[in-house]
Amino acid sequence: MFMNRCLFLPFVVLLLLSCSSPKKETQKQPSQEQPASVLNRPSFSSDSAFSFVKQQCEFGPRVPNTSAHDNCAEYLVEKLKSYGLIVTTQKYTATAYDQTVLNGTNIIGQLHHEMDKRIVLFSHWDSRHVCDNDNLENRNKPVMGANDGASGVAVLLEVARQLQIEKDSVGVDIVFLDLEDYGQPSFETDEKKDTWCLGAQYLARNPYYDKRPRKGILLDMVGASSPYFGFDQISLNYAESLLQEVWSAAHSLGYTTSFIPNVSGAVLDDHYYINTLAAIPTIDIIDYNQNRGFPSTWHTINDTPDNIDKKTLQMVGEVLLRVLREK
Ligand SMILES: [Zn+2]
Repeated sequence: MFMNRCLFLPFVVLLLLSCSSPKKETQKQPSQEQPASVLNRPSFSSDSAFSFVKQQCEFGPRVPNTSAHDNCAEYLVEKLKSYGLIVTTQKYTATAYDQTVLNGTNIIGQLHHEMDKRIVLFSHWDSRHVCDNDNLENRNKPVMGANDGASGVAVLLEVARQLQIEKDSVGVDIVFLDLEDYGQPSFETDEKKDTWCLGAQYLARNPYYDKRPRKGILLDMVGASSPYFGFDQISLNYAESLLQEVWSAAHSLGYTTSFIPNVSGAVLDDHYYINTLAAIPTIDIIDYNQNRGFPSTWHTINDTPDNIDKKTLQMVGEVLLRVLREK
């Protein structure tokens, strides 16, 4: 499953070379030399995106089988409808690692349903039932999921709002996946297979579309300060050209210190099942590297809105809009 790193090196060199132009300096002091790609920065409001993070968290942790989860689902459906998307839901049950029967809802919004050429954007909207990366005292508490869940959804809601405002959009499907984060805790020793990403597994086995998206982008944990968005190995294996395209778009906007064109590790996330079961080439923009792992608030009680950095929401939103505009 893992690609030989040596095969990958020429591309790294290419991107590093392409980043050697003084884009960061020109970004601070706009001048006539500034590349048009930086000047024509996509319109994206991080204030708006941050308000979407807070609104989700105000329901409480969106743990499956709770009223917070039900209420947030309604909110997300209405939000997408208010931006002119055609919204459908997939409701299903799935059995968790501990035999809990979970009620799941995947929420699908489609913009320009008539267009054949489509791209799908994913994020999971549920939050984890346990803080199993925290100390013993907090381990049975649910995760608020401001970063792990709400941040990706918030960026996609703001993207939807912007696409509605601007006219020349492509066909876009926005899919909020459920039941991503109810997987088996890491401290359990009898490891079970496929306990994470239950909503993505359902969606991949039960396609929602009549016009199949050509590619997909998953957002997960896109709200912490100083993010490290590297090349996830699974994304590289299944959708290398899209990875190049997205990281190039990020670099054209000057985000060279956050979008790092190096392999950051392999993350088993929703995109794994979209790639392997639905065969839609899909990448994961996720804050992770194999040296420091996920952001420090990951699966702890500190994954709250006060630890969200609007600058990170802004950069990811701009990158997505740049990629969509270039379609
Ligand atoms: Zn998680």
